[in-house]
Amino acid sequence: MYSKVYDYIELCKDERFTGFGDGRIIQDIVLPDDGEYHVCLTFDDGPNPEYTPQILDLLKAYDAKATFFIFGKFAEVYPEIVRRIVSEHHEIGNHTYSHPTLTSLDLSEIQREIFEGEKAIQSAVEYRCSLFRPPYGIFSDEIVEKVEELNYKFMLWSRDMQVNDWELPGTDKMVDEIISNVKNGSVILMHDAGGNRDQTVETVAKVLPILKSLNYKFTTLSELMNSRTRG
Ligand SMILES: [Zn+2]
Repeated sequence: MYSKVYDYIELCKDERFTGFGDGRIIQDIVLPDDGEYHVCLTFDDGPNPEYTPQILDLLKAYDAKATFFIFGKFAEVYPEIVRRIVSEHHEIGNHTYSHPTLTSLDLSEIQREIFEGEKAIQSAVEYRCSLFRPPYGIFSDEIVEKVEELNYKFMLWSRDMQVNDWELPGTDKMVDEIISNVKNGSVILMHDAGGNRDQTVETVAKVLPILKSLNYKFTTLSELMNSRTRG
């Protein structure tokens, strides 16, 4: 049914989608080399009542802004956390309503997932997402087109950084993966829900001061793309 199905691992090998690439599928933010360093922390699959507030507290302590890709169903259950994310000036992105593998759905079902995800967010807070991230990083060309047609930017994450927090690899390994691969415009993927995320919280607590000491600023995706990208 789909002409080409991509998953993130395969995409990592596909140079067409490097960085800002053809401008359609975004992995890293390409920034001018002007001495300023920015990194985008992104958290998928929340809100979660245990982990999201801990991450928000850490971000607040370091005056850091991040982007949360919201699981619509949980936005309905924990609307107050969605409101807190927005009131603390973080960005939220659409991550569908029920987190399906999109390539198992037809395009009308995909559209419904995106609309329902948006509606769930809007039931918590007045907000219109401008970013979309596909569950599991799995998609096809047709899905990218559909997402664009619905006026979202198609957002993945930096391919040269495999934090893989869902595998619970240990805090030290995740910190090392981030610090050894971070560069200006990196988009770091982590998860604030979907299982035990103690390691993720601990990793955030460790990388914030290190990245800060390396002169990185923590910026939301849209803010960085809108204000600082070249071309
Ligand atoms: Zn997800």
